[in-house]
Amino acid sequence: MAIQILPAELANQIAAGEVVERPASIIKELIENSIDAGANQIDIDIEQGGCKLIRVRDNGSGIAKEELALALARHATSKISCLDDLEAIMSLGFRGEALASISSVSRLTLISKPESQTDAWLVYAEGRDMLPVIKPTAHPKGTTIEVLDIFYNTPARRRFLKTEKTEFSHIDEVVRRIALAYPNVIFNLQHNGKFVKQYRVTQSPDQIEKRVATICGTTFMQKAIKLSWQHDDLCINGWIATNIGQEPLQYFYVNGRVVKDRLLNHALKQAFQETNKSLLTSTDHTLSYIIYLQLDPHQVDVNVHPAKHEVRFHEARLVHDFVYQAMVMALKQEKQRTLEPTA
Ligand code: ADP
Ligand code: MG
Repeated sequence: MAIQILPAELANQIAAGEVVERPASIIKELIENSIDAGANQIDIDIEQGGCKLIRVRDNGSGIAKEELALALARHATSKISCLDDLEAIMSLGFRGEALASISSVSRLTLISKPESQTDAWLVYAEGRDMLPVIKPTAHPKGTTIEVLDIFYNTPARRRFLKTEKTEFSHIDEVVRRIALAYPNVIFNLQHNGKFVKQYRVTQSPDQIEKRVATICGTTFMQKAIKLSWQHDDLCINGWIATNIGQEPLQYFYVNGRVVKDRLLNHALKQAFQETNKSLLTSTDHTLSYIIYLQLDPHQVDVNVHPAKHEVRFHEARLVHDFVYQAMVMALKQEKQRTLEPTA
């Protein structure tokens, strides 16, 4: 066969293979977009575990009518424009691929209204050439994205979808993860027309503690040791606990993005082993943590994986030692506190 450039729809479907594994991965991308748009309320409605319908509505900045079609195009983003931007990412998105990928494997409709625009507009992509159709509609300031019939046109992928219950539990987990990092954003999750999760916002200064307690349970909060330290450009906050009487919770955020990282786990275990062996069981599978690390975005590469759940630290050793030190200090303080006679 001669070399040819693939049609847009096929190229998008190939790209979708990397980011759209299941309904939960679509929800992750859509919520991240809402957060990048500065929304402080995000409503998520799903039907049949998200396989039939996913609707994410936000009150963020919206998309102008003339940019609606572009938002669905591949490699189209408002978040970076040059290599320098790529090396210092502060937004959750930057690849300009999510909407193009999602719309290539579902029936996607995007409705949006920026504050400055009097009317709302709707766009959907149709047919093999993915030609976008634009129509006027009604919508308050913000954006709603509706995704119907995931994988309707890619039966091989559809077969990998699990039961409604399993798909829902993945979605639930995605929402929890993001809600933990954005305590000032309201999240409402509805499944088959019923509210199943509502993460509210109170005006109290301990909103983050409230959010963590709601999501991780009061046992975790009661048992947890607080971590809070800053050195140069590095800042760490969070909670660590062992044996919380349920599955361990392990959440690590780098500049507001949840990531998987071995380095952190290693640093925490090492600190525990050296400071307070008695708190750690021999298997140490019981370590639970919610840790927020902030650092200069130039110091971390987030462009490692299409789903963006891995990062690379430029100075991995430095970050490791910083986390270790912060943890050792927190454990020592905790030891002292528990040894002090209560008045
Ligand atoms: P990325 O997030 O990597 O830029 P996406 O495909 O997810 O790529 O989105 C493409 C563009 O569409 C974004 O850069 C943004 O400008 C716009 N967009 C998507 N979702 C929203 C939203 N909920 N509110 C405002 N703008 C959005
Ligand atoms: Mg995005």
